[in-house]
Amino acid sequence: MNIILLGPPGAGKGTQAELLVANRGMVQLSTGDMLRAEKNAGTDLGNRIKTVMDAGELVSDEIVSSLIDENLKRLRPDQGVIFDGYPRTAAQAGSLDELLAANGRKLDRVVELEVDEDALVERIVGRYTCAKCGAGYHDKFKQPKVAGTCDVCGSHDFKRRADDNEETVRTRMAEYRGKTAPIIPIYEARGILIRVDGMADIDHVSAAIAAALDE
Ligand code: ADP
Ligand code: AMP
Repeated sequence: MNIILLGPPGAGKGTQAELLVANRGMVQLSTGDMLRAEKNAGTDLGNRIKTVMDAGELVSDEIVSSLIDENLKRLRPDQGVIFDGYPRTAAQAGSLDELLAANGRKLDRVVELEVDEDALVERIVGRYTCAKCGAGYHDKFKQPKVAGTCDVCGSHDFKRRADDNEETVRTRMAEYRGKTAPIIPIYEARGILIRVDGMADIDHVSAAIAAALDE
């Protein structure tokens, strides 16, 4: 099964992708993670996209679609994919259709996480991840079971994203409203869109997604 998780920044895409990977053995392809890896590695590409990402604007369609292309090719055909943070524009949605077809895959479902914008700033400014394994946490909504220790790998080292500040979040939301939300009707017209209440707590959102995928 190949699915897209769609929703504004902080909607819970990464959190739900992490659960789908753990529970169903699917593979998460997050363009945000790929771009941050390039940025942190200081590659030519990383240096070119740093300013764009730190400002909360969208990186070019060509760059993100070529990252998806490279990563998709490496997967075994039996591995289901979760696209997290991609596509974000109509051009990317078109590229994804082509890349899936070229890899003998099809898009089964698009899950839209519906959230109140007012809640997103709080979610984003409280977000952090394990520096070693990448597991996601929140100051208030998802604390590690033992304070200061990652539930998954036991590391004591955590990090926050450079773009997770209130000012950048506003730009990221505007990008979502202007460029990403308009692609939702494409999937609705195909009959593969599922809307899930992203304001429920993490376990309820996960149960709603599981129920929708198993229908
Ligand atoms: P996205 O990948 O869509 O940008 P994340 O999955 O990183 O969003 O979630 C943003 C923050 O909100 C994280 O710190 C996460 O722990 C927290 N979070 C995710 N889902 C929920 C939820 N349903 N309720 C409360 N907090 C949540
Ligand atoms: P995310 O981790 O999904 O919140 O993405 C972080 C940042 O990476 C975004 O604000 C963009 O600058 C960039 N980015 C991630 N995915 C894409 C994409 N599909 N298209 C364009 N830019 C992207």
